[in-house]
Amino acid sequence: MLKINKNNKMITKILFCAAEAAPLAKVGGLADVVGSLPEALKAQGLDARILMPAHGSISLKSWKAKKINSFLIKIDKKQERVNIWYIKVKGTSYYLLQNKNYFSGHVYEGDSISKYLFFARAALKALSLLPFKPQVIHAHDFHAASIITELSTQARTGRPGLVLTIHNLQHQGWTEEKALLKFDFCKTDFQVRDKNISNKKTSTWINLLAAGIKSADKITTVSPTYAKEILTPAYGYGLEKLLSSRRKDLVGILNGIDVKTYNPAGDINLAQKYASKDVVAGKQNNKQAVRAYLKLKEDNSPLFVFIARFSNQKGLDLFKAEDLLNLQKKFPFQLVILGSGEEKYEQMILAVNKQLPDNMRTIIAFDETLAHNLYASANYFLVPSKFEPCGLTQMMAMRYGAVPIVRATGGLKDTVIHEKTGLVFKQYTSQAFNRVLKQALLVYYQQPALYKKMRSDGLRQDWSWQASAPEYQRLYQEI
Ligand code: ADP
Repeated sequence: MLKINKNNKMITKILFCAAEAAPLAKVGGLADVVGSLPEALKAQGLDARILMPAHGSISLKSWKAKKINSFLIKIDKKQERVNIWYIKVKGTSYYLLQNKNYFSGHVYEGDSISKYLFFARAALKALSLLPFKPQVIHAHDFHAASIITELSTQARTGRPGLVLTIHNLQHQGWTEEKALLKFDFCKTDFQVRDKNISNKKTSTWINLLAAGIKSADKITTVSPTYAKEILTPAYGYGLEKLLSSRRKDLVGILNGIDVKTYNPAGDINLAQKYASKDVVAGKQNNKQAVRAYLKLKEDNSPLFVFIARFSNQKGLDLFKAEDLLNLQKKFPFQLVILGSGEEKYEQMILAVNKQLPDNMRTIIAFDETLAHNLYASANYFLVPSKFEPCGLTQMMAMRYGAVPIVRATGGLKDTVIHEKTGLVFKQYTSQAFNRVLKQALLVYYQQPALYKKMRSDGLRQDWSWQASAPEYQRLYQEI
């Protein structure tokens, strides 16, 4: 039942503003969340829609998009045409902003600061032209934060409620003042008086995420543990004091996943679909298909899988060829790594792979189909992150009966229980990682009952939005 907010007005109309949303455009977990939460909010009686750029990588034609409006905005004395397109995907309404100069590439291609300041400027204008009048603007990450920074300057009675979700504090959108002026923002609205922040760069630099944190009515992040971690210098990336000053309006709400898309029983990407009760045979068949595809030999060894963006966050530097070779001698295993991103980490992993040519495969790509097949084939799924705001891959892994091995940080800590639904290690060191890999192999070879129990406990977890969607619904009413 809907809860009425303190002004006796029911909040039902929410507009998500974000850089990416699956299935239209996806780089990481942000897209999964933005693309699936609106549907879950519908079950709470809310009409949540999405406003995002019409990235050049999105085929408007194949999504049967309809052009509903068009306008001009002046940037640096130049008129920029913005078309508003409308699409309905799986019951969710999207408004896509198209512009040939700023949004021709993929989500983060090119200069992200200009792209997303332009997005914010265009979104602010589009708000008055949309047929949908939101009561809450829910901005995601720094890309959309400037929308709420500007709206917050209006009197509360005349503007929508403003919610900012931090999906990853590492990306804050540092920019020079002159960029703000170029996109017609007022620099005083963006100044955050926090010593930590202004010390980081010279005084002419602006932090778009910090400005959003200062001006939002409510701030959320994507797991309860990350909400606490970001108040500390170790995880706050320089914003811990600012976040602490907003502690009363900050809440950690655990992400869910789209359990319809990530469902081994109905997943059309898989070599073979399987229900939970057929998990052993189902995974075996998928593993066979993946091994054939990746030219890995067929034997009784467990398959470890790692899928992530290649960045300093994801624990790629914990993989040491020598440790893996030593483990391999006693307990054979296979390892598949799928990901792409920073060149440094691509080289690092390829160098490790060179020393394990028979038992390891590295695929440098973003490959949704292969990712699904790997979740379905894996015996163990590795998430050794240095920090992890929520992490979705460990939930996806459990959904497909792969036992997660994670570091105790952020949402990983909130979702995996050691020796119950997975294996958890604490220290961010290759020694600790090696120890947990050894434990995983011992469990797999010598304690099959424990392995089986972890897999079935993982399969039984509910990772849908069912628990978290009502928390958002309550939060919206509190504004
Ligand atoms: P993050 O948001 O930090 O990238 P998450 O765990 O929240 O990490 O979400 C990652 C999402 O991106 C998951 O859906 C995962 O399957 C997907 N993903 C990451 N890398 C790849 C890749 N190389 N190919 C296909 N899917 C990927």
